[in-house]
Amino acid sequence: MMKFAIFGDIHANLEALETVLDDAKANVCTHYACIGDIVGYNANPSECVQRVRELDCPVVRGNHDDEAIVDTPLNGLNPLAKEALEWTRSHLGEEERDWLKGLRLVRQVRDFTIVHATLDSPGGWGYVTNKFDAMASFSYQFTSVCFYGHTHTPRFYVKAEGVHAVPGDTIPIESGKKYFINVGSVGQPRDGDWRASYAIYDMGTQKVTVRRIEYDLEKAQQKILDAGLPEMLANRLAVGK
Ligand code: ZN
Repeated sequence: MMKFAIFGDIHANLEALETVLDDAKANVCTHYACIGDIVGYNANPSECVQRVRELDCPVVRGNHDDEAIVDTPLNGLNPLAKEALEWTRSHLGEEERDWLKGLRLVRQVRDFTIVHATLDSPGGWGYVTNKFDAMASFSYQFTSVCFYGHTHTPRFYVKAEGVHAVPGDTIPIESGKKYFINVGSVGQPRDGDWRASYAIYDMGTQKVTVRRIEYDLEKAQQKILDAGLPEMLANRLAVGK
């Protein structure tokens, strides 16, 4: 039976990415899907693009991937994201940029959908932070399960009678309901837990589990400092914000 590892918001954190992929392997995942934002913020954009490409799996483009492949001025981003993206632009090869350019914003994979931010406006990069945002996205969701990211906070939204958020780290997929599932962030979690986050979708047992994995945080932080990226980007990794 197929077991998918669904991961994203890697943000150029190679230590976190490698650890997540090792964990997925140890948990006998047979397939992979990536919900975007491979680059931005941390020190290994090129290496992370290469690593994801090696998996040869479905990938959708995130807003940081989007900003990294153009040369237009960076607007509407916070100063930290801006500085990191300028650095990222100068550290991606032509071929890596071309590959990112070829990514779509929404994809259907088997019986589920992947998108970076929202289904109601995939290129608008809105944030789903409450059930009303989730409701808007659900009206464009044509599979029972959709995985997304962008807020860097794992979350399960379920649409049954109404829409509500369900706590916990495992959720059974039941027929007749819809699920909009945030897999959290591999490389820069923001829910106060520094550990890398990703989800496993077990198609045999019809269960989705979010896993939190410790990785070599200090190494990732040192790389950020060595690269001359803002120190704040190294500090925030330790607090998961
Ligand atoms: Zn992101």
